Amino acid sequence: MIQLLNIEKIYRTDTIETTALNNVNININKGEFVSIMGPSGCGKSTLLNIMGLLDAPTGGSITMDNQSVTSFSRKRLAAFRNLKLGFIFQSYHLINDLSVIDNVELPLLYRSGISGAERRKRALEALGKVGLSARTKHYPNQLSGGQRQRVAIARAIIGNPEILLADEPTGNLDSAMGDEVMNLMLHLNKTDGTTIVMVTHDEQMAKKTQRVIHFFDGQQVS
Ligand code: ADP
Ligand code: ADP
Repeated sequence: MIQLLNIEKIYRTDTIETTALNNVNININKGEFVSIMGPSGCGKSTLLNIMGLLDAPTGGSITMDNQSVTSFSRKRLAAFRNLKLGFIFQSYHLINDLSVIDNVELPLLYRSGISGAERRKRALEALGKVGLSARTKHYPNQLSGGQRQRVAIARAIIGNPEILLADEPTGNLDSAMGDEVMNLMLHLNKTDGTTIVMVTHDEQMAKKTQRVIHFFDGQQVS
């Protein structure tokens, strides 16, 4: 599903050059749930941004869903990202002055040919999947951290993405809420077959996934 071949990422400014990723080769199969662990600064976020097509590598190639995305134009990349990928962040990234359901509908606003009624219907379905059907009219600051992350997950899955990329999705949550969010992701992986790549510092969470990739200093070490 995701093939990274000889990926290199060097951040360059006038005076500093930082190698964030060095010769990274990773293959992630369709339907896999993989976690990525490693110390701060080892390149995890850079890797996730590159897999999410948010940032381009300085070397190497990426194949996603059998398409060579490294050669795509910006416009095609954006369309591909919108259609195939869903994102979850540690800090939820919800819009505080939009209601829960309006937050969840957002990704569909950037797709053509979906009516307002269809957006509502799909947002309600997504909120049902994350167990928040009773919170559609609430605002993010009226919810617990775990509930906010579940809203973010509903937003991430409303477009039926084939790949979910999660950057420390349980990092701001206590263990009970973290478990709730983790169980939800395990469920999505199992029932919808969604491929999931999760960066985490939490060994307990990583253990629940099918494979753990360990990073150190810009490289995969195991
Ligand atoms: P992690 O997510 O594992 O903490 P990052 O991917 O954020 O690691 O960072 C990897 C390395 O790249 C670090 O040395 C960091 O300082 C550097 N880095 C990250 N983003 C930038 C940037 N925009 N400009 C320059 N250096 C960066
Ligand atoms: P942190 O793990 O440090 O709290 P986040 O999880 O908030 O960081 O974000 C991880 C990365 O994703 C950052 O490099 C950030 O620039 C990027 N990012 C955050 N929100 C968005 C967004 N809505 N769209 C695109 N990129 C984002």
